Amino acid sequence: MALRYYLLVPKDQRVDTWLFHKPDDLGKMCRLPEVLQIQCANCGKFDERVALHRRTTADIRVRSKVDLVCAVEGVMLASHRFRQVITENAITGCDFSPVRGDDRYWVLHPTVLVATDLATSGLRVVTPAETGSVEASEFPCVVDKELRCVACHRRFQVLGWPGLTSMTLPKDPKTIFVSDIPLEQPGWYSPLLYGSEDVVTILRGSKITGIDYTPVQ
Ligand SMILES: [Zn+2]
Repeated sequence: MALRYYLLVPKDQRVDTWLFHKPDDLGKMCRLPEVLQIQCANCGKFDERVALHRRTTADIRVRSKVDLVCAVEGVMLASHRFRQVITENAITGCDFSPVRGDDRYWVLHPTVLVATDLATSGLRVVTPAETGSVEASEFPCVVDKELRCVACHRRFQVLGWPGLTSMTLPKDPKTIFVSDIPLEQPGWYSPLLYGSEDVVTILRGSKITGIDYTPVQ
């Protein structure tokens, strides 16, 4: 029988963990100056992976106790316990770097990006004109024929998650992976994590908290 796959969806989130923003004097969340320096002048996005690599993140305290936390901007944070379970069970696809200000958590970097065929993925790519969002109105956001930003080549908005048959799945079933077409919003992206039933069995057996397992086809 074919291996079953699941989306590892963060649950019970307080959604108040900001990595790339901090409050101004009036309490409005604003991008860090270092992030503003690398944002695209056309679409307003910035490369989250570059920002993480440079450790351009706010000094934060994660107000959660679960093992997998999703920051507001879509980046996943993992507890020591999560990292330990991944390492001890030789699950591949995750790198970890320290969180500035909170030594209880690690930034989770997905390292296995699987090729995804947009045409058969079931994903919907949306243009700025279709959303009329506040973020969109702040930038010219000219897109090319494939609806990518003409400057940084990011897609403006991608809705849904790709079907399994559109993805080239990893050979090793003990791999946590992401699609190379991540969920995109005007202001953030989200590398949705996938795992096979082998991975899910290990995480469930280890009583990892903060994850709902959604079967995908
Ligand atoms: Zn751009």
